[in-house]
Order: sequence, then structure tokens, then C-alpha cells
Amino acid sequence: MPTRYDISLASLGELLADEPAYRTKQVWTGLHGKLRTPLEMTDLPVDLRSRLEVILPTALREKERSVADDGETIKWLFELDGGARIETVLMAYPDRVTACVSSQAGCAMDCQFCATGQAGFTRQLTTGEIIEQVVTAAREALPRRLSRIVFMGMGEPLANYDRVWAAVRRLHEDLGFSARHLTISTVGIIPGIRRLTDEDLPVNLAVSLHAANDELRNRLVPINRRYPLAALGEACQEYVEKSGRRLSFEWALIDGVNDRPSDAAELAAFARPLRAHVNLIPLNPTPGYLVQGTPRAGVRDFRSLLTGLGVNATVRITRGQDIAAACGQLASVPRDHPTGPRGSGVPVRLVTTEGQNRSRDITEDGRI
Ligand code: SAH
Repeated sequence: MPTRYDISLASLGELLADEPAYRTKQVWTGLHGKLRTPLEMTDLPVDLRSRLEVILPTALREKERSVADDGETIKWLFELDGGARIETVLMAYPDRVTACVSSQAGCAMDCQFCATGQAGFTRQLTTGEIIEQVVTAAREALPRRLSRIVFMGMGEPLANYDRVWAAVRRLHEDLGFSARHLTISTVGIIPGIRRLTDEDLPVNLAVSLHAANDELRNRLVPINRRYPLAALGEACQEYVEKSGRRLSFEWALIDGVNDRPSDAAELAAFARPLRAHVNLIPLNPTPGYLVQGTPRAGVRDFRSLLTGLGVNATVRITRGQDIAAACGQLASVPRDHPTGPRGSGVPVRLVTTEGQNRSRDITEDGRI
């Protein structure tokens, strides 16, 4: 049985074949445009609401919900069919509300300093599982409107290209998100960047660079051995030229590893011709990587060096570190687990929820 957001419009039509024709569109709009559950679709007859609630099950089962930053950051731990787990983060700022969604359960890219990479790959997410994360976050954000969606949760979006792109289309067409408010972040999968270059929806692209020389990048981001910097730079150049869109680079600042003046110089030389914007992220702690993040003063100096070299750079505000919701900390580990987020003295609220479980088998290799 397809889940609520994995069913296509055509299959929904078949499911509602014994109903008046207009019902299909009504239910579709109820789910996507109005973010309603079938039970909340008050424009439907009561018995149809309850029937749909059963035949269109949800895909995400909420296991845990953690709250930090005075309620401005929420992280969900969801269990999926087959038992895989993912996390989704909602971040409220004065001027925007952002959802950070997962594209895979786990990740096969093996970046050492990232908790998702440390945990390995479990499976690809379906389009509906991606959409449902957004719907959950958008409902939670109410009465504020969810304004941005970043594919920066667990997984490598460009290693699950078709499903991620189908989700992007649906978010744009049926949920009404402007493509300019969607950002796909990649470790640098060149074939995926090429495909994005030719897509008609102008989503933002962020590339997780972290090192601008191959020797260091091979160690930090192992996929660099397959897609080295020169080739990555060419794909980025083509992206910028053909699409006319702005590119950004993410750079997790790691103490003594990639925060030296020579690193800033290499980064500037790589980013400047692409007119790319650089997002500096002070490294967040993860259980499997013991090097520290660059101290605050070092972050400031690194940024000044970049600015002096003609590169636009901003420092990303860290959110949700206490609940392991910050960049690179998503590992789908419950808080009471030994490798879970460690207490920092900051009180967090924790809610454990048991929803309904569904079974559906998906076996697919997330490797590329
Ligand atoms: N796989 C995609 C999407 C994940 S985005 C990608 O790599 O782009 C998550 C971002 O957080 C990436 O830029 C990633 O490199 C960065 N990151 C990973 N571990 C981190 C850590 N410990 N501290 C700060 N940033 C980290």
C-alpha cells in the first residue's frame, strides 16, 4: 500500500474510482496544498475521511522529538518502514523558518567528521518520505510559514537523484514552495551537478568543499578521489555559467586542519572565479572525530582572510548542538543511547512518541 505522500495523482484517482471525480483533486489538495491529514479534511464525507486515514498510511513514525534554542530548534527522530531511522530539523529565525530534511537513511559518502557518515548507509528515502518530512515541519511551524527547505539532513541528495528531484518538483508544484527557497547540498557528485545544471527549476546548490587541495580533501571527503577538485571546479563552472544561479560552498572549520592561512588562500583561489559564496561552519562535535572545531577568534580571522581575498563569506549560526541537531550531527541515535547527544547542562525537552508502524520493503544500494 503506498503511503500518503508516495501515492501518485493517478493512483489516487484509481483508489477513489467509486467517488465523484472531483474528490481526487480535493484529497490531493488537502494533502499537499493544505497539509491536512485525511481526518482533518472536513470537506469530505466522514466515512471517506476515516477510510483514507487507513488506506493512505503515513510513512514516518515519530520516535523522539527534541527541542533546543528556547523552542526555536526542533529535531525529530523518525522510524521508517523496515526500521530505518532518519532525522529532520526545523529551525525558526526572526526572518525565516527553515526545514532541514534527510534524503537517505544514513550516508555512504564516509566523510570522517560527519556523524551520518560515521554511521554508514541504510537505504534510499522515497519521494513520499522526503515530502512527509517537509509536511511535518510545515505543520509544526504554523502559524508561521515554512520558508526554506534545505536538503542538508542525513544522506547525499545527489546519490538519490530521481527521488529527490521528484520531491523538489512536488514541493514546487503542489506545496507551493518557490524553487529559490530550496537548497540541495552535495558532497560533490559531478554527474548529479551536471543534471541539476540542466533542470528547469532554479533550486540553490551548495557544495560541501571543506578543503581546496586534493590531498586534504581526499582525507576529509573521500568521494574526492572519484571526483577530484579540478573536475569538480569544472562542473561548478558549467553550473554557474549555464544556470546563471549562485553557488555556495560549505566549509566546516576544523582546528589546525583546514583553518590555516594557506587553506583560506586555496579556498579563495577556488571560489573566486566561480563567484561562489562561502558558508563557514565551525565544526560541530561528533562521536567519531576527535579534532575540535576552530575557536571563535580563528573563525573570525579565517573569514577576514577570505574577505580580504575577495570572497564573500558568512559564518553559519550553530543551532541545536545540545540535541545533536547541528550540521553533521544527525545520526538517528536516541538521546539516551551511549553515543547519543551528551548532556551539556542545557535543559532540553524530550518527547517520545509511538505511532503506527507499516511494512514495505525497499532494498536499494545508496552507493554510486
Ligand atoms: N551529503 C550532503 C548533504 C549533507 S549537508 C553534503 O555533504 O553536502 C550537511 C553539511 O554539514 C555538509 O556541508 C557537511 O559537510 C557538513 N558537516 C558534516 N559534519 C559536520 C560537522 N561535524 N560540523 C559541521 N559541519 C559538518
